[in-house]
Amino acid sequence: MKIIKFLIINTLCLFVMGKSHPLQAQNKREAKAHNKVLKLMGSRFEVTAVSENDSLAWQAINAAIDEITRIERLISSWDTKSQTSAVNRQAGIKAVQVDEELFRLIARSLKVSKLTDGAFDISFASIDKIWKFDGSMEKMPHEDKIAASVAKINYENILLNEDKKTVFLRKQGMKIGFGAIGKGYAANRAKQVMQALGIKAGLVNAGGDLTAWGQQADGKNWRIAIADPNDKTKVLAWLAIKNTAIVTSGDYERFVTFDGKRYAHIINPRTGYPTTGIKSVTIVCPDAEIGDALATSVFVLGEKAGLSLINQLKGVECLIITDENEVKTSENLELNYL
Ligand code: AMP
Ligand code: MG
Repeated sequence: MKIIKFLIINTLCLFVMGKSHPLQAQNKREAKAHNKVLKLMGSRFEVTAVSENDSLAWQAINAAIDEITRIERLISSWDTKSQTSAVNRQAGIKAVQVDEELFRLIARSLKVSKLTDGAFDISFASIDKIWKFDGSMEKMPHEDKIAASVAKINYENILLNEDKKTVFLRKQGMKIGFGAIGKGYAANRAKQVMQALGIKAGLVNAGGDLTAWGQQADGKNWRIAIADPNDKTKVLAWLAIKNTAIVTSGDYERFVTFDGKRYAHIINPRTGYPTTGIKSVTIVCPDAEIGDALATSVFVLGEKAGLSLINQLKGVECLIITDENEVKTSENLELNYL
């Protein structure tokens, strides 16, 4: 394990470098990058299609946006009309039939829960009224309130019936939410939709959950910069990628501080308290959804157990920035430091 120490006072962020060459005045049409930035799922999304065919590229970008919007309607736990909200309303009462797509997403979420021994748990959401990470919290919630809510968190109480495609939350007051996996899933689907339309290269950045395929318009690999948290305009390290996802879960915008201790926006399902010790986790792996879920899991597991898990997973790498501003990486992460 490599340990590199940096003094970090600002934030870590990812950005993509490299622009396509402008279309040159010649008969042969050259591929160029078409790009749209917009707010979806409450986050900043960026959708890029590389193609020599302008109308195809825009058709694909719009199809990707429609797909993300559709997914949001299905999985949002804020939207009272979503199937997820219907499942939550019937907690402790009855099983609810859902679309195959939502059923499978829940089944995959439960797999991650098993893999991480419950660090990742979509039923964390029964506590989401207690903790607020928008700057509105002035004091620590009462421990009785936390204890009452944490009793409702347990992925083993999410019961799936494969034949009937139903979901039953066993305890009253239970609630599921896809905040830690939904954007990764949406990024994957947006990519698939664009590929199905014939886009050979592109990039989807779903609020820090980024997936890229093919190469940039100039034929080079995508170069993803990890910015120096001391100074966002400086690059800490580079990752040159072709077909992979890079997912960052960071608490720098959403955290609370009580008695000088920093609490991240991710809940430890065992304690009901937000996690401490880590500022940011970046996962590199082929699949944005898995990367998304694992980034959140590493926050809960903490630096040591988190890296140990990632080092056991083939094709998955990780970079952690701790509260002490140390940068720690998994065994095989290949970064180009500047
Ligand atoms: P991410 O930015 O991907 O790490 O996701 C953070 C979001 O995941 C939070 O804002 C919550 O909506 C949700 N979340 C918090 N704690 C957990 C947890 N232990 N397991 C699953 N989801 C969580
Ligand atoms: Mg996540």
